[in-house]
Amino acid sequence: AEKKSIIEGQAEIRVSSQKVFYNPVQEFNRDLSIAVLSVFLDDFKKSFIEKAQKKAKRLTAEGIEPEKTIEVPITILEALSATGLRSIRYAKEVPNVTKIIANDLSEQAVETIKENIVYNGVENFIDTNHDDACMLMYKHKFHSKRFTAIDLDPYGCPSIFLDSAVQSVQDGGLLLVTATDMAVLAGNSPETCYCKYGAVSLKTRSCHEMALRILLQCIEHHANRYSRFIEPILSISADFYIRVFVKIHSGAFHCKKTTSKLSMVYQCVGCDNLTLQPLGAFKANPTEKNPGQIKSCLPLVPPVGEFCVHCNHRHHLGGPIWSAPIHNIEFVNRLLNHVEENSHKFGTAKRIIGVLSMVQEELQDVPLYYIVDKLFGRVHLETMPMLQLRSAILNAGYQVSFSHASKLSIKTNAPAQLIWDIIRTW
Ligand code: SAM
Repeated sequence: AEKKSIIEGQAEIRVSSQKVFYNPVQEFNRDLSIAVLSVFLDDFKKSFIEKAQKKAKRLTAEGIEPEKTIEVPITILEALSATGLRSIRYAKEVPNVTKIIANDLSEQAVETIKENIVYNGVENFIDTNHDDACMLMYKHKFHSKRFTAIDLDPYGCPSIFLDSAVQSVQDGGLLLVTATDMAVLAGNSPETCYCKYGAVSLKTRSCHEMALRILLQCIEHHANRYSRFIEPILSISADFYIRVFVKIHSGAFHCKKTTSKLSMVYQCVGCDNLTLQPLGAFKANPTEKNPGQIKSCLPLVPPVGEFCVHCNHRHHLGGPIWSAPIHNIEFVNRLLNHVEENSHKFGTAKRIIGVLSMVQEELQDVPLYYIVDKLFGRVHLETMPMLQLRSAILNAGYQVSFSHASKLSIKTNAPAQLIWDIIRTW
């Protein structure tokens, strides 16, 4: 059969079969992942070398000669690889990588990956594997075999891969996860969402960020079972999918803080007001004997009432969602610099810069947001100009920002009462 040639970044792949999946729209996802991995692995390498140097010093002090050179093994697993395009781009465009495994369950896909690896001359960097992604990851759950980074890019929902994935990433390593089942995550099927992600989704104005927060709580839940926990460094909603980048750490003590990073969401069926009810309130009470003792994990906030305080309608209950920050802004700043300096290398650089600039501005401690026209639509009013609404909030002494997930969004730490007061005066 005639082969189609596709060029993206530094890779050129050839695809002959309709059965092997290639989606050009995901170029942004791949470009962004390359940028994130480049910055992340640079950090990872530095901290690995620092640790090795400390160890060498200690050994020298004990009279033992340490290793002369420090090797930093950096391994990436692309668990669902399809054409191999992503792995080939990682091999060619991400510095510091030692080895990549490109895996797929489909025999035809693995054949295509093999051909593309040879065609791109990256045989030394990429090994192929033909297996169920979970089976492969379970084989790598022991310390010495864990991956520095695992990329999960499935059709639809990634949750069936999470149990094995959270176990087979190194401490401080990176998990990159895509979910494309937006209808489920955005509240069209809350019951299915509960079955798949362990959280009830809501049809609400900030459904895209809620989708990110449902996925993050799902990954955290899986990680906690193995005394591990996540640190989200970037969480993006784009087109028809979401993509999260989370570091995985180990530590049973830190897992006790999870409940304070999760909240239930009350959605008023009348005015669509959203109220968060934290699951826990972490308070460390260090004693000399036990420096990490926890004083209380019980919520200290009053429960949300049956009726909405603004319009007296009942609530839908959704969640739990991840209600802690979804990005690490210090990382995002460096990522943005990296993409600006290397913009010629990314086909979608302009879009990445736009999205990351929005992310940089987002209020980190304010989960979810309003959508301006929906807010005014609820009370059958003409929409107030965005600038005017933002100024009114700022003048009242509160912070306001956009969310990257929606152009008409308003993120604010102002109480809902103030927003309704502003609307009343309009
Ligand atoms: N990551 C690819 C890219 O960037 O072009 C696209 C991956 S595609 C959306 C999903 C792939 O997962 C398909 O090739 C499919 O054969 C494979 N797949 C589905 N279930 C799998 C499983 N349980 N284990 C391994 N691969 C699987």
